[in-house]
Amino acid sequence: MQQVRVRFAPSPTGPLHIGGARSALFNYLLAKKHDGKFIVRIEDTDRERSGREWEENILESLRWLGLEWDEGVEVGGEHGPYRQMERLDIYREYTQKLLESGRAYRCYCTSEELEEERERLRAKGELPRYLGRCRNLTKEQEEEYIAQGRKPVIRFKVPQGEKIIVDDLVRGKVSFDSDGVGDFIIVKSDGIPTYNFAVIIDDALMKISHVIRGEEHLSNTPRQILLYQALGIEPPRFAHISLILGKDGSKMSKRHGATSVAQYRQQGYLPEALVNFLALLGWSPEGEEEKFSLDELIELFSLDRVAKKPAVFDIEKLNWLNGVYIRQTDVEKIARMAVPYLQESGHLPKDEAAIDWEKLVKQVSVAQNYLSKVSDITDFFAQFYGEQVVLEGDAAREVLQQEQVPQVIALFKQKLQDLDPVDSEGVKKMLKSITKELKLGGKKVFLPLRVALTGKTKGPELHDLIPVLGVEACIKRVESSLVQAGK
Ligand code: GLU
Repeated sequence: MQQVRVRFAPSPTGPLHIGGARSALFNYLLAKKHDGKFIVRIEDTDRERSGREWEENILESLRWLGLEWDEGVEVGGEHGPYRQMERLDIYREYTQKLLESGRAYRCYCTSEELEEERERLRAKGELPRYLGRCRNLTKEQEEEYIAQGRKPVIRFKVPQGEKIIVDDLVRGKVSFDSDGVGDFIIVKSDGIPTYNFAVIIDDALMKISHVIRGEEHLSNTPRQILLYQALGIEPPRFAHISLILGKDGSKMSKRHGATSVAQYRQQGYLPEALVNFLALLGWSPEGEEEKFSLDELIELFSLDRVAKKPAVFDIEKLNWLNGVYIRQTDVEKIARMAVPYLQESGHLPKDEAAIDWEKLVKQVSVAQNYLSKVSDITDFFAQFYGEQVVLEGDAAREVLQQEQVPQVIALFKQKLQDLDPVDSEGVKKMLKSITKELKLGGKKVFLPLRVALTGKTKGPELHDLIPVLGVEACIKRVESSLVQAGK
């Protein structure tokens, strides 16, 4: 097999999206699997929409996901530069070749003339396209246009009557008619190449073996193949991966929630979880297992298990996976991640030096078991570590009105005050002893205690929570709950 060289080639016109991140990941996985190279190239020829801040966002998001590149922007390599706007001389050389071989020509049509032509075709029920009015201009005609101050674009002469087959590694053979294509622009009037032209020169010069990208580029591929043929260059293999849909079946968009990697990062998703989740958007390994590290993904990945059908973005699955990763992560790390959220919510002082780390780590060690994303920590703190207990609805109140409750609470307070040390094991034993001494079933003891301590009928284990809250806070809380329940 030829060396695998793949690239991720984002246009820096917005943040790194989930779809782009998935393309980057699939490229990365293929490269790593075959000891190949993963290249990052910036396609910044859309001057109006491109911005350095977006480039930075994209690169930072890739690094955060752990998708480091072997060659490309910022890291360099043999085939640079890796920003298209720094490669204009290279494109010029190839434009010249195509002009000289008669495969491209200058077109002087104005936008009004082009619109008129499209209108005429539409009226006849035909596909609007450029019919080649400037294909065979005489020298005099050209000179006249230039004298009129018209600025030419350069168009590629599309051979007529040809079938172009894209032999796609995901979609199989897809056939296109060259007649439907029309002579397309390869260099705009300001001398900047269009996407279809720049992309093939770069892929060829960077020796790209496989182009893995979103399905939306499938319709560009016949144009790119025609350009390769005209330049006598062997095209790379193509693999177009399916769209990502929201759960309602429409294309994933802002309407469905966060779409950029930076937003997920900000909400406290872990990169390992996001990578795992993205890998399963359109690819699946054999078997039922769903949790994979990046190394395991590299081991298992293959393009022939990439699905043709669209992938559905299921946020609940991401939340589940993220929760699994959060529970596996060192508590200190989650605590560090939690700090900015808790500072923002007022649960922690803004001054880091004033944070009681030992206490925080204890609190997080309980919360960790219940979080889907780190930002949920503020909610958890508000619910379980707040100053006040708020009884949640009638169900909670009714539990506290059961007749055994005063007895249970009195014994709990007494035993808690005597407990030493107040740790998980000790609390477990103490709770058990309450049921024994009062000769009550667990439910009659644990549920009222839970409600009295937390205001809720569900939540963390009491033997986890009580040591974190501490004796004094527990007693204050149960007393305030009883008052609220009218006991
Ligand atoms: N710059 C293109 C994009 O962001 C890349 C397409 C390709 O991979 O060829 O959509």
